[in-house]
Amino acid sequence: MKRLVILGGGYGGIKILLSLLDHQLPEDVHITLVDRNPYHSLKTEFFTIAAGTVAERDVRLDFPDDNRINYVYKEINKIDSENQKITFENSTEVISYDYLVIGLGCEDNYHGVEGVEEFTESVQTFAKARHTGLAVGNLKAYGKVSIVGAGLSGIEVASEIRESRPDLNIRLLDRGASVLKAFDSKIQDYVAEWFIANDVDVLHHANVEYVEKDGVCNNGVCYVNDVTIWTAGVQPHHLVRELPFTKDRQEKIVLNDYYQVPESPNVYVVGDCASSEFSPSGQLAGQQGEQIAEVLLAVLQDKKPKKPKEIKLKGTLGSLGKSDGFGNMMQMPITGLVPRIAKSGVLWLNKRH
Ligand SMILES: Cc1cc2nc3c(=O)[nH]c(=O)nc-3n(C[C@H](O)[C@H](O)[C@H](O)COP(=O)(O)OP(=O)(O)OC[C@H]3O[C@@H](n4cnc5c(N)ncnc54)[C@H](O)[C@@H]3O)c2cc1C
Repeated sequence: MKRLVILGGGYGGIKILLSLLDHQLPEDVHITLVDRNPYHSLKTEFFTIAAGTVAERDVRLDFPDDNRINYVYKEINKIDSENQKITFENSTEVISYDYLVIGLGCEDNYHGVEGVEEFTESVQTFAKARHTGLAVGNLKAYGKVSIVGAGLSGIEVASEIRESRPDLNIRLLDRGASVLKAFDSKIQDYVAEWFIANDVDVLHHANVEYVEKDGVCNNGVCYVNDVTIWTAGVQPHHLVRELPFTKDRQEKIVLNDYYQVPESPNVYVVGDCASSEFSPSGQLAGQQGEQIAEVLLAVLQDKKPKKPKEIKLKGTLGSLGKSDGFGNMMQMPITGLVPRIAKSGVLWLNKRH
């Protein structure tokens, strides 16, 4: 028997699973998918859960019902790559593998700033996004929310909360001189104007020194605040950072051309945990997933896999509430309703697939 275990049914893991199931698999292949949640989470939409604008049923999908897959819904607490075993929290169950895919995503990077772990909300897991949604939703009229980090997720969180709660005082702390540093200046200006028009206070050149239960201290000034949301950086999952494999500067696992770990070629890594020339994204994880499935199909059929082609990303789309947005499509910056509709279209397609 060939035991293939996929850790994480997120953007990368689900793509691998669906692509494999599209094919006739050898009889002796046994697939197990492990996730803490009994559903596929649409992480790119977690900002809506944090803002309370969408029902959580709309941000998750059932895993495929197929008798070729065994599902395990548990919290993984160790990947024992030496003995090829996976163990779980509060459970004596142990899963052994012959082939392993690691697609556990990323988690917040607190950059060692005091108080962040204890006192900030997050959008990095479903449970955390839900917790953030409750904290924001329970705020009294004119409550104060600070969002630290003005990358894509910080912008989407801030604008969605603004649309959800016009009464709140919202402050966005941005480390750079302009929001969305990875985007074109036309988009940066458009988003900056949206925040001015929608009364979101943006502080540039932020350098958060510490966070307390009721405030954020930045560049020597402490702002009293009811809820602080951290969107100021991510790092690969801690179980991945613990593995004895070669990592890049961001602690992602370095892979060969076939997404295999050179030290253990029966281990594959997808998405936010895999070293890549591209920034982490759901789109990248999905494309890598398709390619890993092709490699795995060959390996499981005892054939030599073809070298995966170069990844070609289609651009990024972001939202500013429900009827405005921005994006880079085919190297062109676009703003307004069109990219917002396109983003909803991408979500609809993802759900259908
Ligand atoms: C607010 C926000 C907005 C974003 N917007 C975009 C966007 O517009 N476009 C885009 O392309 N990307 C976007 N991203 C980034 C994108 O969500 C990630 O890059 C993508 O989800 C990575 O896919 P993945 O498969 O590596 O991991 P994930 O999709 O995060 O999947 C990881 C899976 O592992 C499971 N898991 C983790 N730890 C454990 C454990 N210990 N035990 C069991 N299961 C576990 C999780 O439940 C999850 O199902 C956004 C992210 C955020 C937070």
